[in-house]
Amino acid sequence: MATVPTITLNDGATIPQLGFGVWQVPADEAETVVAEALKVGYRHIDNAAVYGNEEGVGRAIAASGIPREELFITTKVWVSDFKAGNTKQALRTSLEKLGLDYVDLYLIHWPSPADEAYLDAWKAMEEMQAEGLTRSIGVSNFLPEHLERVAEAGTVIPAINQVEIHPALQQRDCQEANERHGIATQAWSPLAQGAVFEDEPVVAAAEAHGVSPAQVVIRWHLQRGRILFPKSVTPERIASNFDVFGFELSETELAAIDGLERDGRTGPNPGEFNPS
Ligand code: NAD
Repeated sequence: MATVPTITLNDGATIPQLGFGVWQVPADEAETVVAEALKVGYRHIDNAAVYGNEEGVGRAIAASGIPREELFITTKVWVSDFKAGNTKQALRTSLEKLGLDYVDLYLIHWPSPADEAYLDAWKAMEEMQAEGLTRSIGVSNFLPEHLERVAEAGTVIPAINQVEIHPALQQRDCQEANERHGIATQAWSPLAQGAVFEDEPVVAAAEAHGVSPAQVVIRWHLQRGRILFPKSVTPERIASNFDVFGFELSETELAAIDGLERDGRTGPNPGEFNPS
């Protein structure tokens, strides 16, 4: 089984660089799909309360028999919970659904920046980390200005910022802001949900290495130092998305994929999206 490289976070914890995402995995398929991922060798699962499938993920973890310390489990607090002042209760509910005593990483899912409720949520995150309910704490979809506010108001710098990144949307300003603060970058929708698989540099590298476009894009993220968790419900794709440690992209190939930036956002712009 492949050894996945790890990244050391600013709080000293380590995280496997390649994980498995479960957004849009139906609740009644989550157990089977995650069991398949764990069988293939993934040890890092990216979940969120709002995905509605934590129970299935929890059942797969329990049935796997894999020692807890070998797993890295993330979940996230949704906006409605932190705006209601329920951040701590939200994590307790997630832990119950996952069947766990702690998560490895808890994230604020969106800043929803029309008001600054995310700053109060961050205080609760710091307390929950101190209580041991989560090993690491971080944020998701935070733009540089939101990170500045957290850095000013908080006492702990987020370990992670999880943002949309793939060849068509690289958010370099955001990645640079993360680096300045010592925050590791996670790439969500790392495959652009398939939208970059026909782009010439991706196809050319896939042909040159005898691999799939998805494997090329995963390798590009890994070699650029990002943490990622592609999603699939198809066993062959779950396996092939993990089979990415037997080839290496050249700097020329990486640079050609860097050149695919086209502001190709697939999700909402966090600066403008204010769910409640
Ligand atoms: P992704 O970029 O991982 O693409 C997944 C889709 O790509 C699949 O549904 C399938 O259609 C296709 N695909 C996957 N593997 C393939 C392969 N080998 N060959 C061909 N097609 C393949 O998209 P995603 O699920 O949106 O993102 C991954 C994870 O990121 C999510 O599951 C979730 O955990 C996380 N995420 C977080 C946020 C956030 O706001 N924090 C938002 C979106 C996603």
